[in-house]
Amino acid sequence: MSLLNIIVEGDPRLRQKAHRIRTVDDSIRRLAADMHDTMLDAPGIGLAAPQVGMLLRLIVVHLPAGYEKPEDPQHTYTLVNPEVVKSQGRVLGYEGCLSIPGWTGEVPRSRRVTVKAVGLDNRPLRIKAEGWLARALQHEIDHLDGVLFIDRVEDKSTIQPIPEDEEIEGPVEAAALAEG
Ligand code: ZN
Repeated sequence: MSLLNIIVEGDPRLRQKAHRIRTVDDSIRRLAADMHDTMLDAPGIGLAAPQVGMLLRLIVVHLPAGYEKPEDPQHTYTLVNPEVVKSQGRVLGYEGCLSIPGWTGEVPRSRRVTVKAVGLDNRPLRIKAEGWLARALQHEIDHLDGVLFIDRVEDKSTIQPIPEDEEIEGPVEAAALAEG
C-alpha cells in the first residue's frame, strides 16, 4: 500500500484540465490502487487523480454500506475517462473536499446522473446514480476539469469552516455535515 500526497487549493494543478487516458495499463492500475488507499486513509469517499498531482481523467469513489440509508449497499468505483451523459433534477447538499480541508459549503447538483466511463479492464461502464453517489461522482468529475465545489456554491454565506467539535472523521470528500 502506498499513500499519495493530496494537494490543496492554491496548487495550480487543481485548476487544470486533466488528460484522457488512452489505454489502461499497469501504471494506471497502480495509480488507481494507490488513490484508493489514499482516499480510505484520509478518510474520504472520493478522490480524483489531479488531487494527487496527476493530470489524468481517473477517479475513485467509495461509499460504505449504509452511508445514506441503512439498507444502502457499498459502492466502490474506479472510473477512467468518466463523463456525465445524462442528468435530471436538482438538489442542494453540503460538500467538503480533501483538497480544501476544514471547509464545507452548500452545492447544487443534479439529483440523478448517468455516468459513462471505462473500467480498469478497459471495458466501457455505465452507472446510473442518485443521492450521495450521484453527488460524489459529479464532485469528482468536476476535479478533472479543474472545478472545485466552492466554484459551484451559489449562496457563498454557506461556505464555512467545519466546526472543530463536529463529530467528523477528518475532512470528508463530498460528504454532508449532517452525516457527521
Ligand atoms: Zn474534492
